[in-house]
Amino acid sequence: MIIDTHCHLDDTRYEDDLDEVIAHARTSGVEKFIIPGADPSTLERAVQIAENDASVYFAVGVHPYDAQNYDRAFLEPFTAHPKCVAIGECGLDYFRLPEGKEAIAAEKKYQKEVFVDQILWAKELKKPLIVHIREASTDALELLESYAGEEGGVLHCYNADESLLKLAKRNFYYGIGGVLTFKNARKLINVYPKIPQEKLIIETDAPYLTPHPHRGERNEPAYCTFVADKMSELSGVSREQIETLTTQNAQRLFGI
Ligand SMILES: [Zn+2]
Repeated sequence: MIIDTHCHLDDTRYEDDLDEVIAHARTSGVEKFIIPGADPSTLERAVQIAENDASVYFAVGVHPYDAQNYDRAFLEPFTAHPKCVAIGECGLDYFRLPEGKEAIAAEKKYQKEVFVDQILWAKELKKPLIVHIREASTDALELLESYAGEEGGVLHCYNADESLLKLAKRNFYYGIGGVLTFKNARKLINVYPKIPQEKLIIETDAPYLTPHPHRGERNEPAYCTFVADKMSELSGVSREQIETLTTQNAQRLFGI
């Protein structure tokens, strides 16, 4: 069994065929799903999906792209739901910044405030964090080392900065997704063997980051299998062992 620890099933791109997408995942051996919170406007849809399907869980949080929509008072009640397993996805993303020195500084400052608030909130609730970091490893590392609780969390791994491996000791896990299957993913392929095996989990980030050989199409949780195959190939352990290991890791982190 594989757990897709990060799939945006509340995305409008699944509106017409979500049942088929989940059924396809199940026949591929992907049996549990976590919908990270990203955009507060689709949170109710995430809750509805989790209430309709015992194998779907969700997280509550705001993605750095939507940082200006962060409102803890609005989000708070959702965290009391029995299927809310984490805070996030939150983090820092310096890939798309506004123009001009002052605007850049203001944007970074705002993203950091919103991120720190979610880190502290997770600590208060004793829930793990789902963290998005893009071109912001130094700042993100500093904030997580300063504020994160012992529940730790998971880091989206497409940035693959070796400096972030330090967080394994702080109970952070590393979400491995479709990027590992890309021909140009040399950086991640080099870092991958250095990640402790007890800290590896699988995620698709569907509908984004579709693995080879479906690159360019809409991603879906069933494609976790391509990631698991590649992990098995790179680690020299069997596909079954990868499944067992990553599933146990995800269950330990999210308590599911
Ligand atoms: Zn995501």
